[in-house]
Amino acid sequence: MSIHREPKNSSSPETLIVGAGLAGLAAASFLKANKREVLVIEAAGEVGGRVRTDVHGEFLFDRGFQVLLTAYPELERHVDLDALDLCYFESGAVLVKEDKLSRLIDPAKRPLAVFPAALSRSLKTKDKLRLLKLRILLSKSWEPKSDISMELALQEFGFSREAIGSFFFPLLSGIQLTPRLEGSARLGFYILGCLFRGSAALPSRGMGEIPKQMSQRLPEDSLMLNSPVESIAGRDVFLKNGLKFQPAQLIVATDGPSASQLLGIETVYSRSQRCMYFSAPAAPSKDSAIFLAGDGQGPVRNMAILSNVASSYATGTEALIVAAMPGNNDVTEGEVLSQMHRWFGECVDEWRHLKTFAIAHSQPLFEPGRPFRRRLEISDNCFVCGDHRDTPSIQGALVSGRRAAETILNKV
Ligand SMILES: Cc1cc2nc3c(=O)[nH]c(=O)nc-3n(C[C@H](O)[C@H](O)[C@H](O)COP(=O)(O)OP(=O)(O)OC[C@H]3O[C@@H](n4cnc5c(N)ncnc54)[C@H](O)[C@@H]3O)c2cc1C
Repeated sequence: MSIHREPKNSSSPETLIVGAGLAGLAAASFLKANKREVLVIEAAGEVGGRVRTDVHGEFLFDRGFQVLLTAYPELERHVDLDALDLCYFESGAVLVKEDKLSRLIDPAKRPLAVFPAALSRSLKTKDKLRLLKLRILLSKSWEPKSDISMELALQEFGFSREAIGSFFFPLLSGIQLTPRLEGSARLGFYILGCLFRGSAALPSRGMGEIPKQMSQRLPEDSLMLNSPVESIAGRDVFLKNGLKFQPAQLIVATDGPSASQLLGIETVYSRSQRCMYFSAPAAPSKDSAIFLAGDGQGPVRNMAILSNVASSYATGTEALIVAAMPGNNDVTEGEVLSQMHRWFGECVDEWRHLKTFAIAHSQPLFEPGRPFRRRLEISDNCFVCGDHRDTPSIQGALVSGRRAAETILNKV
């Protein structure tokens, strides 16, 4: 793991990158691979930004419930997936409607399960057939003709209100961190395509292992932690600790709101997530799929029994459970437990609340019509990257970091 390192020449690194999230690390490793000198300056005491994992006794807590979609095309350029020792969610989902659980199995991944899936009462046959059609289209990188809201696009595709409400709503509101389906359909279908083409997974040592792995490929003296940047004027970068840098090129790879403040560019609006971790003497179910709240009753949109997916997330005798409430920041532990009680019964009385994360800026807003790739150039020698310049995802952050590095390489 990289720790605070003093740069060799603190006055003039060739390229200075502000922010050691996935975008900043992607830019740094791409430049380094092309023999450029880089210095990454990070405000926090560790790399990863929004993708970090805390160790809490025998439990691992990702900072917010998030998953790695293995079909993200950009991953293979930056991440050694084998070394992450991935643990996979079961494909499909467990739908909870009127407090009854039913399994929705993905027939393309489990062909032998088609028959039971067809019998499942969670979706009507017409909607299951539409889902199959959508799956086939998305496997060929299909896109909607025009970018409208995801809710409208699903209606136009022919899904019933019931299927939209009970399946797409909890699935996509959990991924896109919005309590509604008002966001871009082009993005929604892109994410669904990645979900269908690959798997949802967790690195066995937590999501934070992704940026840790990326940072370990950087040279010893190219990362400064605990060093918040206070202001930027042209190419002059002023740190809160009094240091000043004047690099030949500057990449601002912070989250959107910080980039807006440092560079005076347009405001980036946020989607938030509150998530709660619980331990239980025993897992309430054997399922390792994501559970979706198909009836919208209660604050939890989706949840998972993490210790069923990755036993390394809970190394003691207890199970680890995570419940996610996108955009719902007022919800109490009691409200979450009461919903879980309706789903799993009396065993929930023995659950113990471990930790709550309330993350105000989890993802930037992505409204219909917004382009996937946005301009990175602020001036001839100043660039901005991060998930707010691409899709609001791990994929988007990595792409934007690489694009910023490529822009510099093409210029100089
Ligand atoms: C709860 C939650 C759930 C998510 N779920 C998923 C998911 O399931 N799948 C998915 O693909 N994506 C998910 N995401 C989104 C994904 O994590 C982000 O899109 C991605 O990590 C953004 O990376 P980034 O490098 O652009 O920004 P960040 O990770 O925000 O990195 C920016 C870095 O800049 C640093 N910084 C900021 N200001 C300064 C300053 N002044 N000086 C120095 N450093 C500074 C920050 O400390 C940070 O380290 C989720 C995010 C959250 C929070």
